[in-house]
Amino acid sequence: MEVMHDVVVVGAGCAGMRAAIEAFDAGADVAMISKIHPVRSHSGAAEGGINAALGNASEDDPEKHAFDTVKGSDYLGDQDAIEILCQEAPDDVYQLEHWGAVFSRTPDGRIAQRPFGAAGEPRTAYAADITGHVLIHVLYEQVLKRDIPTYEEYFAWKLVVDDGRCQGVIAWDLLRGGLQSIGAKTVILATGGAGRLYTGTTNAYACTGDGMAMALRAGVALKDMEMMQFHPTTLAPTGVLITEGCRGEGAYLLNAKAERFLVRYAPNAMELASRDVISRAEQTEIDEGRGLNGNVMLDLRHLGAERILERLHGTRELSMTFAGVDPIYEPIPVRPGAHYHMGGVDTDVWGQTSLPGLYAAGEVACVSVHGANRLGGNALMETITYGKRVGRHASEWALANTTVEVPAAVEADAERELKALLDRTAGERPWQIRDELAETMHVNFGVFRREEQMLEQGAIVQSLRERYESVVVEDKGEVFNSDLTQALELGFLLELAECMVVSGIARKESRGAHARPYDYPNRDDEKYLRHTLVTWKDGAVQLDWKPVTMTKWQPQERTY
Ligand SMILES: Cc1cc2nc3c(=O)[nH]c(=O)nc-3n(C[C@H](O)[C@H](O)[C@H](O)COP(=O)(O)OP(=O)(O)OC[C@H]3O[C@@H](n4cnc5c(N)ncnc54)[C@H](O)[C@@H]3O)c2cc1C
Repeated sequence: MEVMHDVVVVGAGCAGMRAAIEAFDAGADVAMISKIHPVRSHSGAAEGGINAALGNASEDDPEKHAFDTVKGSDYLGDQDAIEILCQEAPDDVYQLEHWGAVFSRTPDGRIAQRPFGAAGEPRTAYAADITGHVLIHVLYEQVLKRDIPTYEEYFAWKLVVDDGRCQGVIAWDLLRGGLQSIGAKTVILATGGAGRLYTGTTNAYACTGDGMAMALRAGVALKDMEMMQFHPTTLAPTGVLITEGCRGEGAYLLNAKAERFLVRYAPNAMELASRDVISRAEQTEIDEGRGLNGNVMLDLRHLGAERILERLHGTRELSMTFAGVDPIYEPIPVRPGAHYHMGGVDTDVWGQTSLPGLYAAGEVACVSVHGANRLGGNALMETITYGKRVGRHASEWALANTTVEVPAAVEADAERELKALLDRTAGERPWQIRDELAETMHVNFGVFRREEQMLEQGAIVQSLRERYESVVVEDKGEVFNSDLTQALELGFLLELAECMVVSGIARKESRGAHARPYDYPNRDDEKYLRHTLVTWKDGAVQLDWKPVTMTKWQPQERTY
């Protein structure tokens, strides 16, 4: 059975829900599709906070926020998009507050703001260390209040492209089995990141880059795919995130000699330098033998039990549960882990892609406000501000355009492809390929990148893609066939890995998260102050470049 809507949002994290709310309020018939329950989306795991120049803790303004973001991006961020984010952020945060978000408070009752990495002012609004949890529930309440229908536990697999337009989505019904066509005048991708490309990652199991790959397969370009952010404090050995809020509250990073080693890397900002700088410093300490079992130590002890319990309660719980360490008494073992994809679907400042009717918002998109390195607290803000903008534009476009249909041939092709996969009875199971992909990406495309390792990774990904051709799904059932969906997710991840490697090899400089200290240690603005752009043609990646939009900030040397 085919269903139709004006706007369909794929993904129900902060970006997807904010977009759906805006589209609904603009008068569109909007629905969301989510492979997991909305409040289980990865946004709910965000801890540290959300950035807006409210000026509650210091003299701050959107201009300062914009400059910090431009500098943090290593000048690869598009400055028009950054200015929009920073200008609209304060009102968007107050709206969340008015919807009921319980932000932590200053003594006089205003929204409290903590210092975060590479921010010139304390700018990060927070709800203790469970900010994402609070926001996702507030947004879900607004979705319920509006009765916005959700195709919950539907796995979006393909975009419907017909007549040069995106006209809907084909999804697998996880609960009952079977494919479902969902027609839409506009589709908004809000499917989040792809951290599961790496073994050591803070990202949830659902973060497999589905939307990026679906867009790529529909002929849309992905931008800056080499830019995967490594977060400096992920818990050993699981990769669970230890929030930057710890360093915002004053925690130290120590090496095996109990030195605050950042004095050698970022003498002014120290633990509050940007993430790329700190991850490289940690990796250097570890590689040069000054780590402890492959880790460095995050020391909170001097903050005192009271402050830890009040403001970093969740961090203490995570440390005790997953590392057996109580940060009141012992430092936490941490190391860099894959955290956030600055790259994604190339969009303009209204979330439009090059394919009419297709939009993207949140981590899946690259508008680009983060450039080569994202500042902590800016991702949640992007989901809200750009979720809102994209929801508005997509609904206006939908309401101004005629109906759509999902052609029978498109549905038949999808059925045939799925049947071929399910009918295969012998072959390799997906998990082996997935594990090899994640392990090798970590080694060959991590914090530091060497040309020969990237080339090797390219060859590895090629051979994994060949093995994937004969992968077998052992579970042939209809109900909650996670064997099937994991196989489909692996197909997405393999294509994204190839995009990342091709882009990484082409960028012959060091900028933000893309660090090549052995052959191209410096930033090269003359040649590479531009975005990589990849498309998929005849089963292979094609590389192109796109200029960075500059408004008022010329590139400067970046020190902290
Ligand atoms: C542990 C952690 C902590 C973080 N802390 C912070 C922080 O403090 N501050 C900050 O600014 N940023 C933080 N970030 C980053 C930020 O939280 C994310 O970038 C942001 O929440 C992503 O939101 P999203 O709506 O784009 O995607 P998500 O919240 O990941 O939601 C994706 C949605 O897409 C759906 N989906 C995906 N694929 C499919 C498919 N094939 N079919 C159907 N549905 C699909 C999922 O079901 C889900 O609903 C953190 C990230 C992590 C991992």
